[in-house]
Amino acid sequence: TSPLADVDPEIAAAIADELGRQRGTLEMIASENFVPRAVLEAQGSVLTNKYAEGYPGRRYYGGCEFVDVAENLAIERAKALFGAEHANVQPHAGAQANVAVMTAFLQPGDKLMGLSLAHGGHLTHGMKLNHSGKFYEVAAYEVDPETGLIDMDKVRELALAEKPDMIVAGWSAYPRQLDFAKFREIADEVGAVLWVDMAHFAGLVAAGLHPNPVPHADVVTTTVHKTLAGPRSGMILSKAEHAKKINSAVFPGQQGGPLMHVIAAKAIAFKIAGTEDFKEKQRRTVEGAKILAERLVAADVAEAGVSVLSGGTDVHLVLVDLRNSELDGKQAEDLLHQIGITVNRNAVPNDPRPPMTTSGLRIGTPALASRGFGESEFREVADIIADALKGGDVDQLKERVAKLAADFPLYEGLEDW
Ligand code: PLP
Repeated sequence: TSPLADVDPEIAAAIADELGRQRGTLEMIASENFVPRAVLEAQGSVLTNKYAEGYPGRRYYGGCEFVDVAENLAIERAKALFGAEHANVQPHAGAQANVAVMTAFLQPGDKLMGLSLAHGGHLTHGMKLNHSGKFYEVAAYEVDPETGLIDMDKVRELALAEKPDMIVAGWSAYPRQLDFAKFREIADEVGAVLWVDMAHFAGLVAAGLHPNPVPHADVVTTTVHKTLAGPRSGMILSKAEHAKKINSAVFPGQQGGPLMHVIAAKAIAFKIAGTEDFKEKQRRTVEGAKILAERLVAADVAEAGVSVLSGGTDVHLVLVDLRNSELDGKQAEDLLHQIGITVNRNAVPNDPRPPMTTSGLRIGTPALASRGFGESEFREVADIIADALKGGDVDQLKERVAKLAADFPLYEGLEDW
């Protein structure tokens, strides 16, 4: 019953410091967000105490009547939000959702075709050190080196040549929308299962600002903590016909007891994602990314050797190309960190620099949109980043960042919680 500060002052201090960091800096890592306080509350609730192996109504433990309520709400809300026939809300994270999908639809040695990690794909889409690359044959498609876009004719050519058993459409670093109908056509032509991993753009889909992959794909996975702004976790959506094999691939296939406190938090996030406020926030997210891209393609920035992959964005992130800049990805990340903006360096396609250095940055707007930023604040942030990459005065830029952070308080009163 003692408060955390008494039980473990070192951890209490780390949490307090992290809260201070989140408040005092501008978070622009494209995969991060700030969850609503209700989500924090559910995650810190007594639901963490409950074992509930199995699924609602069919558990291997007694006393599941209330966690069943939470899981059923999460399932029904997820299905309604994305128009899916089936939802499994138990994956602990995005990577776990993806492993479950691969084990449900593939046999070891089958062939998976996904976007190359070096071109914006995710580890779980066939990278050689990952489960996906170790247990399955892999064929990787890439973006066009000139346009930075996925060329669907090339995807089709590769699919016809490689005959994959499963095609995954989805990305961790790609600034445009995917053509799900075309992916469906190609999957049908070669007899492959179509899996869409919408981890990054699920929030945009929920808000109707991005095409919904659910009607096209056999199975869709997502994380819940990126644009969706829920707890750190994963989810699988599918047609009803695949429900049984997906459920058994998650449990008992891969996981033991589900994290019921996180599942309750997912239910809350899905409820919020159906509101007008959430839609409005996603509109600001996309608008902010467009403002940033426009600023970073302007002539004064181009003079510093900085450009934007694909020339712009349709989503919540911008990929900055530093191949012609004196700054490499690591230096640019450190520079922005120094003025109080958190981003991550990112390889550009066919990057001449090594993976620990890279020649790019991935900059996202979801967390700042959650914080309340709108058009004028995103213009100021875009200007600050442009000035930083052009070699502007670090102290002045730091002050401009601090002012923006102070103008948009985060988790007010959380210390007293
Ligand atoms: N899929 C995609 C497309 C991602 O970008 C990520 C995370 O970055 C994941 C899956 C994995 O999610 P997690 O980190 O929750 O395992």
